[in-house]
Amino acid sequence: MSKNIQAIRGMNDILPEKILYWQHLENTMRRILNAYGYQEIRTPIMEKTELFQRSIGEVTDIVEKEMYSFNDRNGDSLTLRPEGTASCVRASIENGLFNQTQRLWYMGPMFRHERPQKGRYRQFHQIGVEAYGLQEADIEAEMIFMTARLWRALGLKDLALQINSLGSAAARAAYRDTLVSYFSAHPQPLDEDSQRRLHTNPLRILDSKNPEMQPLIAAAPRLLEHLDSDSLTHFEQLQQLLTAAGISFQINPRLVRGLDYYNRTVFEWVTTALGAQGTVCAGGRYDGLAEQIGGKPMPGVGFAMGLERLVALLEEQENPNLPDPNPHAYLLMAGDKSLQTGLLLAEQLRDALPNLRLLSHCGGGSFKSQFKKADKSGAYLGLILGEEEVLQGRIAVKYLREDKPQESLLQTELAAFLAAYFKLC
Ligand code: ATP
Ligand code: MG
Repeated sequence: MSKNIQAIRGMNDILPEKILYWQHLENTMRRILNAYGYQEIRTPIMEKTELFQRSIGEVTDIVEKEMYSFNDRNGDSLTLRPEGTASCVRASIENGLFNQTQRLWYMGPMFRHERPQKGRYRQFHQIGVEAYGLQEADIEAEMIFMTARLWRALGLKDLALQINSLGSAAARAAYRDTLVSYFSAHPQPLDEDSQRRLHTNPLRILDSKNPEMQPLIAAAPRLLEHLDSDSLTHFEQLQQLLTAAGISFQINPRLVRGLDYYNRTVFEWVTTALGAQGTVCAGGRYDGLAEQIGGKPMPGVGFAMGLERLVALLEEQENPNLPDPNPHAYLLMAGDKSLQTGLLLAEQLRDALPNLRLLSHCGGGSFKSQFKKADKSGAYLGLILGEEEVLQGRIAVKYLREDKPQESLLQTELAAFLAAYFKLC
């Protein structure tokens, strides 16, 4: 026998037993996005490699070492998307969406060739949100309010908000020189990654997780002290709005984010409940991105959340308030004509009660074996159709989870009975 073929490392199947958590998260977020007037956009899973090189930045972890890039049969370099913002901006430029303010969201898989570990996979999923054409801090505040609403709706309590401002491009360029001088002048040697970044992307040194680098980083000059006055006002406005809404936050001067396109506001929601991979949602403002990939200048703000990490938080909750997956009823059929009567009756019930979860038995067999399956399905009621019932136009109802005697109803009464019993509409 040949060897079983297995899934690619770091790319997981999401099985039916876990899917409820995903659907609960996705449905809750979809409802909230809808309530705030955001519209869904779906872009291809692959883009030209150049799009990510130009948007995310050549000297970032993603572009340097995490992208799944390959040449297609025409020799074009394509990449499985490592994130969604670049595609959204590309699609908006290409389809003329920038003619007006846009509030967009997307959901789907992203691909990064990282070392797989808890909370870090090679295919992972994000819900991302982007708004275009808005310059003030009100939109950042709205997005943060929206995420806070999601955490409340999901019952997630231990998430902390960190914010920072990266200022204008000019302020950042000046700060960059300050940083290069600081790190170069320092006697303590930089680690290999940081040396490499010193002249290409020194801000990323601040993001280093290497413990030996921490004292040096802690003493580094802070970008917040070099902000231009407009960015400072913007940052203060955001803080006022958050405070007014009762959302607590920490200013983290070292929060620089792993992608190059951000300016002004950056933020992350972080938990300590998941070990090292604690950021569940991250985003910021990227006013220069559209121009960088060939469009007209267009302010942008967005964030993305990692669904695997949020699902992991939901799984740790004692009572995650998931929708009930069990069928309301299981239809058992045995004997002459019962199959046809039963399947048609099931269709009538589905017409009358669109929210009824009804499992019709398929594959025949004795009532005994069908009852075993009914029980295993988790259904609350068994609806039993034997030869006798077919002749009399009746159906027997057996309570599978309650100690109550079996009942016999007219088939014509069944929909009303089920609607009342399960409070269905
Ligand atoms: P990290 O610092 O954890 O590498 P990042 O800055 O690379 O995160 P973003 O590009 O901002 O992450 O992506 C937004 C969110 O997507 C992250 O906060 C995280 O929740 C999730 N995420 C990113 N990379 C992965 C991954 N490889 N596996 C699972 N989730 C991920
Ligand atoms: Mg990363």
